[in-house]
Amino acid sequence: MDFDIILAGGGLANGLIALRLAQLRPEVRVAIIESGPTLGGNHTWSSFAHDLTPAQRQWTAPLFAHRWDHYDVRFPAHSRTLQAGYGSCTSGLLATEIAGALPPERILTATPIVAVTPTSVTLADQRVLSAGAVIDGRGQGPTKALDLRWQKFLGQEVELAEPHGLSGPVIMDATVPQFDGYRFVYLLPFGPRHLLIEDTYFSDGADLSPELLRRHLADYAASQGWSVVRVLREEIGILPLGLGGDIQAFWDEGDAGVPRVGLRAGMFHPVTGYSFPDAVGMADLVAALPSLDAATIYRATRDHSVGAWKARGMYRLLNRMLFLAAHNEERRHVLERFYTLDAGLVGRFYAAKPELRDWMRILSGKPPIPPMRALSTLIKYEMGKA
Ligand SMILES: Cc1cc2nc3c(=O)[nH]c(=O)nc-3n(C[C@H](O)[C@H](O)[C@H](O)COP(=O)(O)OP(=O)(O)OC[C@H]3O[C@@H](n4cnc5c(N)ncnc54)[C@H](O)[C@@H]3O)c2cc1C
Repeated sequence: MDFDIILAGGGLANGLIALRLAQLRPEVRVAIIESGPTLGGNHTWSSFAHDLTPAQRQWTAPLFAHRWDHYDVRFPAHSRTLQAGYGSCTSGLLATEIAGALPPERILTATPIVAVTPTSVTLADQRVLSAGAVIDGRGQGPTKALDLRWQKFLGQEVELAEPHGLSGPVIMDATVPQFDGYRFVYLLPFGPRHLLIEDTYFSDGADLSPELLRRHLADYAASQGWSVVRVLREEIGILPLGLGGDIQAFWDEGDAGVPRVGLRAGMFHPVTGYSFPDAVGMADLVAALPSLDAATIYRATRDHSVGAWKARGMYRLLNRMLFLAAHNEERRHVLERFYTLDAGLVGRFYAAKPELRDWMRILSGKPPIPPMRALSTLIKYEMGKA
């Protein structure tokens, strides 16, 4: 056996498992294998403070490059500041932390994997490495088992000529013209003249034109009176949003008996596509298992993923209303109305920990979509005709 555990794919989910195992079980010989030139890729992973437990906030603290204690949303009819913590991790910090936690010979970058079994990986150069368990964290793969739509965006980290004047993130500036689904701009102020600005769409299709979105960002910056001196970095995201599907069939599509984590395990928030909190939770779960053999990890990761999928059925119902029943402009009304609700409810919604009374509140009142249209869409979906 070459290693105790091989982490196949060196992105967010497996990177966090590498860190958590190094913290709690340093005797376990973990190797992490990534096809790209660096671990973590090119991401800014943000989350709400509420999404993590105090213990999770503590062990992930070195990954956070920025934190704020409030954030804004902007819609045509109302804007609002919510007093809730928000923070951003960077893939650079994740890579640095893993490099500090694992010996260099156990970090393999620029090393594509072509096949996995529960206890081995085959590399593109035909080398076969073996382990007590392989954990597949190679990100979103093709699936016929899940019904997905997309949150897609192009983000640019920019330096401005003058201060932007923001005191905290703007999670949604939905005052922008709408097309290709629900559109908003997302802003993270990293410094007085330093900003991450993303042009974002909740869309039916996964196609994205970088040139068009760059033009939108330039137009948006101009509309705010901001002059961009330099684009420091760019990132593109096409994130899955869940409408429905069969989570057991999703697992059965994969390599038999291979533990899966992250997007590979369907672990994402159905309404945002975000997966940072789920990845932290999965790292805690794996690191606490009594035994780290493939069968134990497979059972635990599969059960956890299936449990989370089942518990999030209401989110997928909301997505069906948003994507199938709402016409374009109505999608913005749905989100606008949601952001008039109680701040505690908003926090629980994003943390995927809503209470029954939260769903009652979300679904009560004057609906932004005509009820008969919403109902007939939901029925048609159940009958396989939507
Ligand atoms: C630009 C961007 C920004 C995002 N922002 C947020 C955010 O703010 N908050 C949030 O919660 N979520 C965010 N997400 C969504 C989600 O959290 C990320 O997609 C997250 O990285 C998914 O984690 P993962 O470990 O499943 O996959 P990834 O992080 O994508 O990791 C998979 C890794 O496997 C590697 N790999 C793939 N195939 C192979 C192979 N054959 N051999 C070896 N390695 C392979 C890939 O190169 C990659 O590094 C963002 C996504 C993107 C793309």
